[in-house]
Amino acid sequence: MAHPNAVGVDNTFRRKFDREEYLQRAREREEQEEARKSKSKGPPVQRKPLKHRDFEVDLESRLGKTQVVTPIAPLSQQAGYYCSVCECVVKDSANYLDHINGKKHQRALGMSMRVERASLQQVQERFEVLKKRKDPGSFSEQDFDERILKQQQEEEEKKRQRRERKKEKKREKAVEEEPEVEDPDVAEMMGFGGFRSSKK
Ligand SMILES: [Zn+2]
Repeated sequence: MAHPNAVGVDNTFRRKFDREEYLQRAREREEQEEARKSKSKGPPVQRKPLKHRDFEVDLESRLGKTQVVTPIAPLSQQAGYYCSVCECVVKDSANYLDHINGKKHQRALGMSMRVERASLQQVQERFEVLKKRKDPGSFSEQDFDERILKQQQEEEEKKRQRRERKKEKKREKAVEEEPEVEDPDVAEMMGFGGFRSSKK
């Protein structure tokens, strides 16, 4: 009669870790996941690295203008900033900038958010360009004086042109409304006179 504690009989009632079995299961699971991934995504999309913008961002061309907005108007004519790439409207300039610098927009342009790593040669070339740009305009006091003088002359010229224009306008007005505004004082009161209106 066999004793329950006889050698060779498992009487611990513990679950034993079956290495082989679990290894097999893990492999199966990995295979399944692999299959699922390749089915849903396909090969990973290669996007180009980020590039410089080669145009000015227009934020101000419509500043201060009035526009009638109706809810049925096309998106591009709605209030706010319209992005033609993503076909969406952003409500203000800050958000628009965020948008065109953002991931979704760059993706639509075919770029990832990664920046290309510059090579040594590119860096050296860049330094050369900057050096060349700096050289001719090496700064001296004389340059400074010259620049001030030039600016003053330009301003004088502008003032002169403005005066001419005003005179011209005044002459035109005088011709149009000769009977009413002959007196330069009256003209001035009515807002037609520029300075030196009485000299004429
Ligand atoms: Zn966009």
